[in-house]
Amino acid sequence: MTADAILDRIELALAGRPRPVPLHEPMMGEEEAQAVAECARSGWVSYVSPVVGRFENALSDITGSPYVLATSSGTSALHLALLAAGVRSGDEVLMPALTFVATANAASYLGATPHFVDSSAETLGVDPQPLASRLETIARKTGDGLVNRETGRRIAALLVVHVFGHAPDMDALAAVADRYAIPLIEDAAASLGSRYKNAHAGLTGVISALSFNGNKIVTTGGGGALLTADADLAHRLRMLSTTSKRPHPWRFEHDEVAFNYRLPGINASLGLAQLSRLEAMTAMKRRLPPLYAKHLEGLPGVSIFREPDFSCGNCWLTTMLLAGTVQHLRDELLDKARTRGLGLRPAWTLLHKLPMYQGCPRADLKAAEELERSIVSLPSSAVLGG
Ligand SMILES: *Cc1c(COP(=O)(O)O)cnc(C)c1O
Repeated sequence: MTADAILDRIELALAGRPRPVPLHEPMMGEEEAQAVAECARSGWVSYVSPVVGRFENALSDITGSPYVLATSSGTSALHLALLAAGVRSGDEVLMPALTFVATANAASYLGATPHFVDSSAETLGVDPQPLASRLETIARKTGDGLVNRETGRRIAALLVVHVFGHAPDMDALAAVADRYAIPLIEDAAASLGSRYKNAHAGLTGVISALSFNGNKIVTTGGGGALLTADADLAHRLRMLSTTSKRPHPWRFEHDEVAFNYRLPGINASLGLAQLSRLEAMTAMKRRLPPLYAKHLEGLPGVSIFREPDFSCGNCWLTTMLLAGTVQHLRDELLDKARTRGLGLRPAWTLLHKLPMYQGCPRADLKAAEELERSIVSLPSSAVLGG
C-alpha cells in the first residue's frame, strides 16, 4: 500500500471536478447576494435588525428548539453557554481532547480549566463508559457540587462535542451528567441538520452551541447560535450577549459585566438565505461517504467512518480512517494531496498536546490518540455530491 494508491482512488471519486478541490467550500448564489443587498439597503445591519429575529425563528423551526439566540460566533456561543451554566473561575470542565481548540478556549475565558476525557471510536465523541469510571474514581459530591479529589477543584460541567457533525451517545452521557448532577452542554458547532434519534441534534443538553463560520454547512460569514428549552436561561443568555442592558426607551443601564456577542443583521440576512439550502445541501453531502467508500473498497487498512444507528449526521466532513501500518502513510498522504490539489486534513491535534493545555487534568486518552493517528477528512463540499 502506498499514499499514491490511496490518492488515486480519491481522485477517481472526484473525477471531473476542477482542481484544486478544497476540503469544504460554501454554496452561495444569487439568493444570498440579494438578501445581503436588501439588508444593506434597509440600513438594519446591526444586531437590532429584525432580520436577526427572523433568522432565530427559522433556526427554531429547523431544530425544534423552543429558544434560539444568534451569536457572533460558535466560540462566543460556547463562552456564554458555560457562563450561563454556572462555570466559574477555578472550576474544571469535562470535555474531549479530540475537538477544535475553541471548545477548551471557552472554558479558559472564564478562568476554568479543561479536564480532558477519552473519545469513542464508535461516535468520535466523548465515550460515556470511561467517563463514568473516571468520575467514580476521582469525583466526590460536596455541598459546593462535584469536586475532583486529585486537584481539589469543582467539576462544573460536562461539555460534549458532535465531532464533524456526528452525534455522540447522548442518552448515556446525559445519564452520567445526571448521576453527578452537573449540567450537560453540547458543542454542536458543526451539526446543523444532523439528527440524533429522530430529533435534531443538540436538544439533549441544557444548552447547545452551533457555528455558522465560513467552513460550516451553513454560513453567516461568521456567527453562531445557542439552543435551549429553558426560558430563564434563554433570557439570561440574551442579556449576557447584549451588555446586559436593561430594556428602556432611552436609559443606558447595565447590571453586570456582559458581552457584545449578538449576531449582526447583515450576517443574519446571509444566514436566512443559506438556511433555505440546508435540506438540499445535506442531501448532497450525505452522498459523499458512500461515494468515497465505494472507491476505497479493497484497500486494506483504509475505510470511511460509519456512525451508529442513533445518529444521522449532516456529513459536514467525510472521514477516512487509517488502520495499523497504513497510519505511517498519513503525513505523506497529506503532503502529496496538497501537490495534487486535494484538500485533505488530519484530525485536530489533541488539545492536551497544545502548549496552553499541557498541564490540564486528563483521563487515559488511548482511543483519542488512536483516532488522532487514524482520521483524515476528505473534500466534503455539498457541490461534490450534486
Ligand atoms: C467550528 C467549531 C467551533 C467554533 O466555531 P466558530 O464559529 O468558528 O467560533 C467550535 N467547536 C467545534 C467542534 C467546531 O467545529
